[in-house]
Amino acid sequence: MRDRPVREAPDTVARPLDWQADGLCTQPGVNGDEFFDDPVTARKTCKTCPVLDTCRSWILTVESGLRHDRRGGIVAGLSAKEREGLDPKFRKPTTIPDSEEN
Ligand code: SF4
Repeated sequence: MRDRPVREAPDTVARPLDWQADGLCTQPGVNGDEFFDDPVTARKTCKTCPVLDTCRSWILTVESGLRHDRRGGIVAGLSAKEREGLDPKFRKPTTIPDSEEN
């Protein structure tokens, strides 16, 4: 007897946000309000989160170009202001002074 052909395509769809299921803030019993109301506790939670590095890369990408007042709470262990400070779009350009020899 011959095997029947597979009629379904393999599941190869990328799910770039799957890592969030491993984040401590998404686990049962974690109070999500602390990420807005209790930054000290939120930072402690993020510090021990197994997906901290991925979370930080993600949030810096999705918030790129946003002012800190458009960002909310503690994410990846960083406040809105701290995340804005890491955004290359808000870094001040470095100016090289003219040489006095000219
Ligand atoms: S690093 Fe913090 S905000 Fe990011 S997934 Fe983990 S607990 Fe949540």
